[in-house]
Amino acid sequence: MTQSPAAHSDTLGEGTILISTTVANPEKTDSPEARRYNRIRRWLGIADFVIGFGLLVVLLSTGWTARLRDLAYLGAFQVYGLAVFFYVFLLTALNKLLGFPLDYYSFRLEHRFQLSNQKLRSWARDQLKGWLVGLAIASVLVELVYWTIRSEPRFWWLIDWAVFIVLYVFFAQIAPVVLFPLFYKFKPLENEALRERLTRLSERAGTRVKGVYEWKLSEKSRKANAALAGLGATRRIILADTLLGSYTDDEIEAILAHELGHHVHRHIPKGILVHTGVTFVGFFAANQILHYAIERLHMFEQLSDFANLPLLMLVSAVLSFLLMPALNAYSRFNERQADRYSYTAIRSIAPFISGMNKLADQNLAERDPSRVVEVLFHSHPPIAKRIRAAEAWAQEQESVVGSR
Ligand SMILES: [Zn+2]
Repeated sequence: MTQSPAAHSDTLGEGTILISTTVANPEKTDSPEARRYNRIRRWLGIADFVIGFGLLVVLLSTGWTARLRDLAYLGAFQVYGLAVFFYVFLLTALNKLLGFPLDYYSFRLEHRFQLSNQKLRSWARDQLKGWLVGLAIASVLVELVYWTIRSEPRFWWLIDWAVFIVLYVFFAQIAPVVLFPLFYKFKPLENEALRERLTRLSERAGTRVKGVYEWKLSEKSRKANAALAGLGATRRIILADTLLGSYTDDEIEAILAHELGHHVHRHIPKGILVHTGVTFVGFFAANQILHYAIERLHMFEQLSDFANLPLLMLVSAVLSFLLMPALNAYSRFNERQADRYSYTAIRSIAPFISGMNKLADQNLAERDPSRVVEVLFHSHPPIAKRIRAAEAWAQEQESVVGSR
């Protein structure tokens, strides 16, 4: 649930049904449709988490995880490494199967609110691909964990923590060139005028982003989005084609400047640092809890019994859940920084504000959710707040100029 550094995605996030008391612009209140859509999305997210969490709890409390392990051993002719893979296969398949009705409901929901034009076949293909990619990554990680547990039972958690960070950086680097293209087409941005503007922005910032890519989102969605992705040689800004068609060059420049702000403020490396800390706590806790489950509760005979995997996953899920408000707050802080960078670089808030309003309309985002919803669910500040912050900045500038 922690945000991946592979893509700093600027989706507009979630909303609320609660009627807020302060609205920045009376014309721009949230429609009942937007409230309804965001409320359903939120419940889907909660239900998805509960199902995943519930599955782990049920497997552990009923002892079915041991049966799953025995089944995996049977299929693997008692070969440990292969059995670990089969266990991961069965667990991810079970999880996907249980969550499938929700996934399908989400697909229907996007169509119901006219936010998607993806065909069922294409969606089904994406679901299968997503599951296979997840299975491949999970297999590598889980094999690694149990291999280390077997060879270094005392310090496995410390070793795996270090290796996980290396892999995390590796995935962040390859994501825009290997993982994203599995689901979407990308090509270098052809619009000369926009590229020119970005080059000028980068030069003024004394930095360089490797490229801007057009992201063919329109094949699957009517929503718009932009992101900063990758590390080092793969660092790039990606812009959805759904945004390129209907936004003015000034508005797109403001969005590019926001993404450049993430780059200038080094949000991806900082995100990796935060992740390093969180992962350390996770592995430390996992080791403690695993020992407690074996030595005190006698749930498993030994560390290397991979039937204890649901317990490791439960530790990770609980930690993510507890840290979510803090990580979201950190993300909102970064977003405010990137926003501020955008209008400071352009010296105007007008394109930023009109761009934000367009994004909110196009994505059916809630502009002004309740504070509780913001704190619990939003990785981005609500649009109304982002616009108010821009207006406050402009006023600040005026008063500076006025006092001279
Ligand atoms: Zn952002």
